[in-house]
Amino acid sequence: MSHERTARDLAELERPALEDALEASGHERFRARQIFQWLYRRGVSDIRAMTDLRRELREQLAADFTVHTPTIVHREESVDGTQKFLLRLNDGRTLESVFIPDTPSMTFCISTQVGCAMACAFCLTGKMGLVRNLTAGEIVGQVRVLADVLAMRAVRFNIVLMGMGEPLHNYDETMKALRILTDEFGFAMSPRRITLSTVGLLSGLEKLAREPIMPNLAISLHAPTDEQRGALVPINKKYGVADIIDACKRFPLKRRSRITFEYVMLAGVNDRPEDARRLARLLAGVKSKVNLIPLNAAAGIPFDRPSDETVNRFAEILAERHLTVSVRKSRGRDIRAACGQLIVEGQRRSAGQQLAVTM
Ligand code: SAH
Repeated sequence: MSHERTARDLAELERPALEDALEASGHERFRARQIFQWLYRRGVSDIRAMTDLRRELREQLAADFTVHTPTIVHREESVDGTQKFLLRLNDGRTLESVFIPDTPSMTFCISTQVGCAMACAFCLTGKMGLVRNLTAGEIVGQVRVLADVLAMRAVRFNIVLMGMGEPLHNYDETMKALRILTDEFGFAMSPRRITLSTVGLLSGLEKLAREPIMPNLAISLHAPTDEQRGALVPINKKYGVADIIDACKRFPLKRRSRITFEYVMLAGVNDRPEDARRLARLLAGVKSKVNLIPLNAAAGIPFDRPSDETVNRFAEILAERHLTVSVRKSRGRDIRAACGQLIVEGQRRSAGQQLAVTM
């Protein structure tokens, strides 16, 4: 049997599991803290270079463990400074992660799955279907890679789980990734700097409500009625608008925090003044803020982006009804890094070919 196959991946271990593994092979548990500092704070993934560990320990760790790190296949920078990375995983699958500067802080937009099973009608990733879940190590691995290549190990950044995939459809690995990211000896991220965006899988939301680590929550609502939402977000047939709003009302929010409701605006579909008035009624009594996202158009997406005037009018109606509302500035559209535009390269080529055939 090759070493590669028997070695465990250090990047998949939460600190308590690493402590157990160390203890089981006769080492001090606290060595896990040092290893976490090397791997996450300093960005050293070569076990033999972790020089404050005894040589024997390093040798044994290097024999027992490996560290898988996604590799950068392609990097593109937008005129607005947004950068998109195509990363290759250990099994050869690829995914995209995005760096968005000055939002006003720095933000990493991270994927939780290769592809996505949710098939939202306006989302390019949804067209791929689900290829596979990412592991916690692969989710955190995106952060390690971006932090290194952007020289940001020592800089504060935010994470939004708004890349490819539905985080609550990959619940356990996503939560494990959050525990690794917030570990005080690793990146030590505050959960307040992490936003989990979900289409609203109720079972997942209910579990999330009981988690000790609570990220900010963003719900992809997109329409105020089941009829409209059902046509855009297939899972709405299982978990309807009223169920989601109820779950949000029960969600244990910290003082002063609010749930973000994302609303992709599609011309002539959900952007009318009456939609805004319905949305305002729906969200009355929810600690909310609304984030309007004018559609990022893409080949193969059968919707149009509304005019700025329509978007502004919609926002005004919500504001007049005392909702906090913002319009998401589209970042990185020239490199297809904007919301809903993430897809793996091979798929992009075949999407282009399909388009050429159907046009
Ligand atoms: N699956 C999760 C997170 C990934 S998508 C979710 O649904 O929330 C992140 C956000 O981008 C979601 O609000 C999604 O609806 C939005 N989005 C998807 N496609 C888009 C597009 N073409 N234009 C604008 N926003 C889009």
